[in-house]
Amino acid sequence: TFQALLTTESDNGYQNAVVERELADLGSEGVLVRVQWSSLNYKDALSATGNKGVTRTFPHTPGIDAVGVIEETGNGPFAVGDTVICTGYDLGMNTDGGYGQYIRVPAEWLVPLPEGLAPRDAMLMGTAGLTAALCVESLLDTGVNPDQGPVLVTGATGGVGSISVAILAKLGFRVAAVTGKADSHDWLRELGAAEIVDRKAFLESASKPMLKEQWAGAVDCVGGEMLAGALKSLKYGGSAACCGLAGSPNLEMTVFPFILRGVNLLGVDSVELPCEIKQQMWQLLADQWMPENPKALEAAEIGLEDVSEWVGKILEGGVRGRVVVRLA
Ligand code: NAP
Repeated sequence: TFQALLTTESDNGYQNAVVERELADLGSEGVLVRVQWSSLNYKDALSATGNKGVTRTFPHTPGIDAVGVIEETGNGPFAVGDTVICTGYDLGMNTDGGYGQYIRVPAEWLVPLPEGLAPRDAMLMGTAGLTAALCVESLLDTGVNPDQGPVLVTGATGGVGSISVAILAKLGFRVAAVTGKADSHDWLRELGAAEIVDRKAFLESASKPMLKEQWAGAVDCVGGEMLAGALKSLKYGGSAACCGLAGSPNLEMTVFPFILRGVNLLGVDSVELPCEIKQQMWQLLADQWMPENPKALEAAEIGLEDVSEWVGKILEGGVRGRVVVRLA
């Protein structure tokens, strides 16, 4: 048996408890990985509270991220003892996830842990880091560069936001960080933000059809009026990478910024994209793009018994940085 968090459904809603599970619960197909570390993402909180858009059937073990050591290779290209990262695809959605001491997944979902990256640091990054890297990559691909002006990051103290701030700063961008957390301005500056934008002030002006041109690019984790505001204030030809909906899944605005300023809206998905691209991003995160001060990104290291409490915090937008989950 092994320990896992199990989310169950009852007449009183959803409950999370640490239980003993059997390896047979994971089926017999695919690669068996002994999980060392996982992490907490917004999506994990949705799964652990019964969001059917993330997880259809319960009981279920959440956890969209895992790093660990292979115990059974399941005919894949890996060897017993290899350390691998698994993020996204169906892990933690309808496949039992990283909040268990074992996962069993298709070999195609696994990326070898890049050399020089400690397993725990891989989960300090997790899906949030992978997504931040993809957002930055998509901006660079459209030609955004530090000479063109500042880059806006929304939801800046969140997982994706804070890592985006750190990577962009490391690449020489002037980063403007939008946050609703008045007590986190110094922390964002430590991560590399040059400018802090108050969330409320930003949203107050966001309803106009067009705003003053300010940003060469944007990374948006929030959606809704925040994304609209970012698009309306991009400089001519600028681009915004859209990856999240922590504020709202809706986008209501005119087409003016697109047809008058030629701005670009770039969609970013970290879940289904091919494993080779995930591997390239992990390599970047392991070296050139590793934040200068990764320790600063850490909100907490928690055990399975603490997950419920932190699920509540992240759903309220109250987590600053990243939460690492210890499985070993
Ligand atoms: P997170 O740690 O909870 O960060 C979200 C941040 O957004 C919060 O810390 C907060 O930052 C801000 N925020 C929260 N509620 C808000 C509201 N009502 N209005 C405005 N701002 C609000 O979450 P995460 O794990 O980084 O994920 C961020 C988003 O990206 C989520 O929607 C997640 O589902 C999505 N995501 C998508 C992908 C993908 O593949 N596309 C991958 C990972 C995550 P401040 O307090 O600093 O303002």
